[in-house]
Amino acid sequence: PAAGKTILSARNVTRRFGGLVAVNDVSFDIAAGEIVGLIGPNGAGKSTMFNLLTGAIGLSSGTVSFMDRDVTKLSQRDIAQLGMARTFQHVKLRPQMSLLDNVALGAHGRTRSGLLAAGLGLDKHEERQIFLEARTQLARIGLAGREHELAGALPLGTQRLLEIARALMGDPVMLVLDEPAAGLRHGEKQELAELLKQLRRDGVTIMIVEHDMDFVMKLVDRLVVMNFGSKLMEGDPAAVRRDAGVQAAYLGG
Ligand code: ADP
Ligand code: MG
Repeated sequence: PAAGKTILSARNVTRRFGGLVAVNDVSFDIAAGEIVGLIGPNGAGKSTMFNLLTGAIGLSSGTVSFMDRDVTKLSQRDIAQLGMARTFQHVKLRPQMSLLDNVALGAHGRTRSGLLAAGLGLDKHEERQIFLEARTQLARIGLAGREHELAGALPLGTQRLLEIARALMGDPVMLVLDEPAAGLRHGEKQELAELLKQLRRDGVTIMIVEHDMDFVMKLVDRLVVMNFGSKLMEGDPAAVRRDAGVQAAYLGG
């Protein structure tokens, strides 16, 4: 999609868990080529929002559209096939598998069969294509030549990059990253920020949850702020920084 075109719209998105309203009437748009931060105190509903956008869980009410389609009721797999990819708040790699195999597993969300993930094998041609692409995505995060190392042996920062490489399989339109910088050392955060900026130059749209304000403010074009399930505000980093409501949420939160 052309840069600046709206590719994702959340409209009045609400999700209840029993009596708890985890996400409450939240609306925002994301344009192609943006990096947008989703911030807010613990329990604000950020991960739930990502689960709703990616189809991992259903909405209680509201709508989500992505790539000109109403995806409100689509499965996670169908939304992934439209070009949505994600990483999770907790690392979900297979530590005993090679870097290459871990990245290749990202293909399963994008192939119709999901056979690779089930370990059933694909036809030879499809398998060769997947491993070729996995090598390319590994090179993209600076790990060319290290295909056969075990994922579990990598430092956390590199594991996070590997998860992003896996999410990049199939060249998604949009990447949704839940706290990819959590627990990383300063140098690792810098490396992650450089990768995300490179992906933006490559045309990938990114939405990211992050608690480190210095990191996120330097990285993003725009922020959506949540508190107690609701959207508190959205705006560019400077506007968010000086917003009294945001300051109160963080100081009181
Ligand atoms: P954040 O990512 O902003 O820290 P979450 O989206 O994880 O917040 O959680 C928002 C609220 O929803 C929290 O109160 C959390 O306990 C609750 N919650 C999240 N997932 C579930 C679930 N599957 N069942 C019940 N409550 C949930
Ligand atoms: Mg969370």
